[in-house]
Amino acid sequence: MAYAYDTNNIFARILRGEIPCRKVMETEHTLAFHDIAPQAPVHVLVIPKGAYVNADHFALEASDAEIADYTRTIGKICQELGIRPGDGGQGYRLIANSGEAGIQEVPHLHFHILGGRVLGRMLKQAD
Ligand code: 5GP
Repeated sequence: MAYAYDTNNIFARILRGEIPCRKVMETEHTLAFHDIAPQAPVHVLVIPKGAYVNADHFALEASDAEIADYTRTIGKICQELGIRPGDGGQGYRLIANSGEAGIQEVPHLHFHILGGRVLGRMLKQAD
């Protein structure tokens, strides 16, 4: 099934410059910015510039160049923010909520990078 992409979702509007964001990093295919309602001392959203609804849409339909750029940018952000365990950082969590069961609010792929504190167990309960 093909995904329908809502060109008016909030992240599409950020990409078009219609809404401001606190930018962390920008590359040819990727934009990263601070979450407006952070749930940890580090809470960065990483989005592809292409019109992808969620993680499986991106994984199956994005070009190799987009996927490589996106993945490397996530690594570089972790390095820059000092949360990378390989550099002595405390670690982090990478989350991509997708669809209804994943409780995805914005229908443009975004990975949350959460860190800066111990985050607790991944899934505590089903709300
Ligand atoms: P989701 O629930 O879709 O995985 O996450 C959406 C995230 O986008 C939430 O953490 C929310 O705080 C964030 N968010 C929603 N609107 C905006 C906005 O206008 N700017 C920024 N920077 N983050 C937003």
